[in-house]
Amino acid sequence: MPQPPPPAKLGLEAVRARLLAACRRYGRDPDTVRLLAVSKAQPLAALQAMAAAGQTCFGESYVQEAVEKITQLGRDGYEWHFIGPLQSNKTALVAENFDWVHSIDRLKIAERLSRQRPANQAPLQVCLQLNISAEASKSGVSPDALPELAEAVTQLPALHLRGIMAIPARSNDFDQQRRTFHQVHEAYGALRRAGLALDTLSMGMSDDLEAAVAEGSTLVRIGSALFGPRPPRG
Ligand SMILES: *Cc1c(COP(=O)(O)O)cnc(C)c1O
Repeated sequence: MPQPPPPAKLGLEAVRARLLAACRRYGRDPDTVRLLAVSKAQPLAALQAMAAAGQTCFGESYVQEAVEKITQLGRDGYEWHFIGPLQSNKTALVAENFDWVHSIDRLKIAERLSRQRPANQAPLQVCLQLNISAEASKSGVSPDALPELAEAVTQLPALHLRGIMAIPARSNDFDQQRRTFHQVHEAYGALRRAGLALDTLSMGMSDDLEAAVAEGSTLVRIGSALFGPRPPRG
C-alpha cells in the first residue's frame, strides 16, 4: 500500500517550523524568507488542501500540467511560479499564465517571454537560473555569463528582473551545501553591487533549506517536505 500523503496543514506547519528555527539560528528575519510550495506532479486536490491551509504561492515545472491547475484554481489570490526548464515552444503559455519565472538561462527565452507577455498583465517577475554545479546540470547560465545576461534582461520591457535561482548538486553534507549556496550569494551580491536592484535569492529545497537560509536565501522552493513524496507523473 502506498503511504497516504500527510495532511496539508501538518506539512505546512512542519516546514514553517523548520524555516523559523533556521531563521533564529542564523540571525535571519523570518519575514525575509518566502515559502514557495512546489506542487509539480501533485494533483489539484493537494494544491486545494494546501491553499485551504493558507499557502498562496505555488511552483510548477511542467507547463501543460501547470496551466490546467492554474485554470482550475485561478490567478486571483494566488502567485504562480514557473521553476522548470523552459523551451522556446512553451514560452507563450508561460508568459500568459504565470506571475514569476525562476529558470531563465538565455536571452532568447527572456526576449520571447517579454514579447509574449500580455499587455494587460503586470510585468513577469523573473530570476536567472545560475548553473552553480556545472557537472550536475546543463541548465543555468554560467557564473561568467551571468552579469551580461542580467544587464540584457533588465532592458526587456515586460520583464522585471528580481534575482537569481540555483539548484546545486545534491549533497548530504551541510558544510558543502553552505559552501555552494555561499557562491550563489556572492554572485547575487556582485550583481547588486554593480547597480542592479535585485531582491530575490531563490535557493533551498526540502533537503537543504537550512543551509540556504544560513546563506541568505529569500525564497525557498519546497516540494516533498510539504506534500509528501511526489506521485509518479502519468
Ligand atoms: C522539484 C523542485 C523543487 C522541490 O524539490 P523538493 O526536494 O521536493 O523540495 C525545488 N526547485 C525546483 C527547481 C524543482 O524542480
